[in-house]
Amino acid sequence: MIECNGKNIEFSCEVFPPKRNEDMYDIYKTLDEIKLLNPDFISVTYGAGGSNSKRTAQIATYIQNISEVEALAHVTAVGVNPEKLACMLEEFERKNVRRILALRGDKPRDMSDEDFKERYYKYASDIIKVIKDNGNFKIAAACYPEKHPEASTVAEDIKYLKEKVEIGADELITQMFFDNNKFYDFMDKLGAANVNVPVHAGIMPITAANQLGTSVALSGSSVPTELSNIIAKYSEDPISMRKAGVEYAIRQTEDLIKNGVDGIHIYCMNKFDVTREIYEAVVYDLT
Ligand code: FAD
Repeated sequence: MIECNGKNIEFSCEVFPPKRNEDMYDIYKTLDEIKLLNPDFISVTYGAGGSNSKRTAQIATYIQNISEVEALAHVTAVGVNPEKLACMLEEFERKNVRRILALRGDKPRDMSDEDFKERYYKYASDIIKVIKDNGNFKIAAACYPEKHPEASTVAEDIKYLKEKVEIGADELITQMFFDNNKFYDFMDKLGAANVNVPVHAGIMPITAANQLGTSVALSGSSVPTELSNIIAKYSEDPISMRKAGVEYAIRQTEDLIKNGVDGIHIYCMNKFDVTREIYEAVVYDLT
C-alpha cells in the first residue's frame, strides 16, 4: 500500500508462469524477492487457451500460502467449459486463493477459428457470472483506456465493461498505457457511465527498445513522443535504455498517484529489480 495525501493506493504486480518445460526455481525466487516489497497482491497470468493453467494455480497457491501475499489468479473464458471452470474454482477455494481476474482471452495460435467461434463461454462476463454464483471470490475484470482492439468505439467498449461490473466485477485492471491523459479521459468516461469500482492502472516499464515491437504493439496502446524519443535515442544503448525506461515508468506512476489513482499494477515481466526500483522511488518521492 502506498499512502499519498491521505489516500491508500494498492500496489501490485503481475507475473507469468514459466513454460511447461522450464524450471519453477526462478519464479519462486522472484516471488520471494517481490514479497519483501509487501505488495497488496500479485497476479498470475493464464496461458492462452488454458495452456499451462496448472502452473497458474500452482504459482497462485505459492503466493498465497508460502509468500503470504494475496494472490490473484487469471482465468480465461477461452479454453474452459463449465466442468473445468468448476474444478478450478473448487481448487482456488481449497487453496485459499480468493481473488480472480476473469478474462475472455484471445484465440490461441493452435486453436481453429471454428473452435474459437464455438467456445462455450463467449465473453468475460459469462465467466464472471459463474464465478460470482459459485464461491466467495473478489472478481477483477480487464479494461482498456484506449479501448479493446475489437471494439468499434470507446463508448461501445464501456457499455460492455459496465455489464461486467453489474454482473459481478468488484475491481478493474487496465491494459498497459503510456499516456496518462488517455487514462484520465477514460476515468472521466467511466464516471459518466456510473462505473465506480476501483481501477488499478497497468504500468509496463519499457526496459528494452525491442519491447515496443512485441507486447506493446499487440496491446494497441499509443506511445507518446516522449517515450518514442527515449527509445530512438537509446536503441543501441541497452543500459541507458533500461534506466530511461524505468524513470519514465516512475514519472508515470507518480503522476497517477498525485491524481488520485486507486491502484498501481506493474507488468513486471518477472523482473524483481525493476519493480523494486519503481516502488522505492515512488515511496521515497511521495511519502
Ligand atoms: P471481454 O470483456 O469479453 O471483451 C472482449 C471484446 O468483446 C471487447 O471488444 C468488448 O467490447 C466486447 N464485448 C464484451 N462483452 C460483449 C458482449 N456481451 N457482446 C458483444 N461484445 C462484447 N489473456 C490471457 O490469455 N491470459 C491472461 O492472463 C491475460 N491477462 C490479462 C490481464 C489484463 C489486465 C488485461 C487487460 C488483459 C489480459 N489478457 C490475458 C488479454 C485478454 O484476454 C484480451 O485482451 C482479450 O482479447 C479480451 O479479454 P476481456 O476479458 O477484456 O474480454
